[in-house]
Amino acid sequence: SGVGGLLTRAAATWPEHPAVRETGTGRGLSYHELAAAAQVQAGRLVEAGVGPGDRVGLRLPTSVDFAVAFFGALRAGAVVVPLSPQVPGPELGKLLEHSGAKVVVQRDADADLPDGVSGVTPVTDPDGVVESVEHTRSGEDIAVISYTSGTTGPPRGVMLSHRALLANLDQISGVEGVLEHDDRVLITIPLFHVYGLGPGLLQAVAVGATAVLSERFEAQRTLDDCAEHGVTSITGVPTMYGEFAALGADELRRGLATVRRMTSGAAPLHPKVLTAIREATGLDVYEGYGLTECAPVVTSTLVTGYPKPGSVGRPLPGVELRLVDSDGTDQAVPLDPDDVGDVFEAAGETGLVSIRGANLFSGYWPDGGHGPDAEGWFRTGDVGYLDVDGDLHLVDRANDLIIVNGFNVFPREVEEVIGQLPEVAEAAVVGVVDERSGEAVKAFVVPAAGAALSEQQVVDHCAAHLAGYKVPHLVEFAESLPHSATGKLRRLRLR
Ligand code: ATP
Repeated sequence: SGVGGLLTRAAATWPEHPAVRETGTGRGLSYHELAAAAQVQAGRLVEAGVGPGDRVGLRLPTSVDFAVAFFGALRAGAVVVPLSPQVPGPELGKLLEHSGAKVVVQRDADADLPDGVSGVTPVTDPDGVVESVEHTRSGEDIAVISYTSGTTGPPRGVMLSHRALLANLDQISGVEGVLEHDDRVLITIPLFHVYGLGPGLLQAVAVGATAVLSERFEAQRTLDDCAEHGVTSITGVPTMYGEFAALGADELRRGLATVRRMTSGAAPLHPKVLTAIREATGLDVYEGYGLTECAPVVTSTLVTGYPKPGSVGRPLPGVELRLVDSDGTDQAVPLDPDDVGDVFEAAGETGLVSIRGANLFSGYWPDGGHGPDAEGWFRTGDVGYLDVDGDLHLVDRANDLIIVNGFNVFPREVEEVIGQLPEVAEAAVVGVVDERSGEAVKAFVVPAAGAALSEQQVVDHCAAHLAGYKVPHLVEFAESLPHSATGKLRRLRLR
């Protein structure tokens, strides 16, 4: 039962089918072997003193080790705290202290761990002694505490129950064209983030597909891996698809020859990238929207079956979405896909995206505060609107709003206009303090390889397409922009 039950079922149904395979080493495990290795891992954790409800840190890259350690920890009844292997010592110490994890699974048993925390290595040989440990947990028990990437503030521990994670997998399964048993899905995004974990690894285990795991994304090598492993599906992020597209049409056609479905989430996918990939391969990239608190998927263009540039699609079946006023109280716009009249009247009005569904989190660790309200709604920090078809468009995060002389500027709109210039690879916009206007718009621009571009060109292009107060006062060229592990722009760092 619970999330661990997914593997038990897969091992019983498809014991010999390849479950996980690494691109670099070629190492792989069948479902039977993965379940056996997880069982040995559970025994090791119990030996290290882990009991039901105890937090266990997982500090592993996207690899077979991660899958073994994850299911092993659940089998020991533990709460998994996924951590980036790149987190430096002091920050790691803070996260371990905050979560109360006393045991960490990592490749180098004792590396970087503070006093009082012990390291356990991941099981690599599934033929080891099989201990008969099995603490099943389910329902409202917490399966994962996921620390959000902290692009907008200090990290928070999002408590995800078995119920929430399983509900989201169910909601995803309700959509046509998602993963099937014969799929080989490429995951190079981090498994320590719930986007890679849920719709990536767990969705694969739920249908008995094969997860092709890669520790690092490198556009050319990753495309080669796709061809070599006969990848049929990719769960990715916009920066990945942007780098794929930059390799050119011939490379795309060769590398993606066996692929039938690609999904993108975590950050906006530029329409330029979507078009380049479609023109080269005839394949669409389906964009979704999610957040850790929703375990994580909320909407997808797979729901309608057609990608729509600039839109993140419609709510998954079982997920309710409405837009509320920024002062919070009401002026709610309910979205019922069957009630086209309602949707039409609401079209174009922006509001804060609010979500309700069985996939929602149980508040933040440790006290469960700031979870869904009494009626079950969770207000995200995202501003969006519905178009006439009822498809959701994200405007930006409310926190990123820039106020120039009292006028609202959402950075994403300006970034998209700058991104239309063929000479631009990527743009980021932030607000900077300005004595006259309160805040002023500043743009960071990464020119496309070999392109010549002046500040004036950027400003002129913006002036031709945007209201005057939205036009950047300052333009700075950069070689690259800071991104999080899931490809999100780190605007706080830019500011
Ligand atoms: P923190 O809240 O600490 O800054 P985070 O917001 O990065 O961390 P996540 O749960 O990883 O935490 O990210 C969720 C956010 O990612 C959403 O609220 C939304 O702003 C953004 N997002 C997700 N998918 C998309 C998308 N397709 N287009 C634009 N933004 C997206």
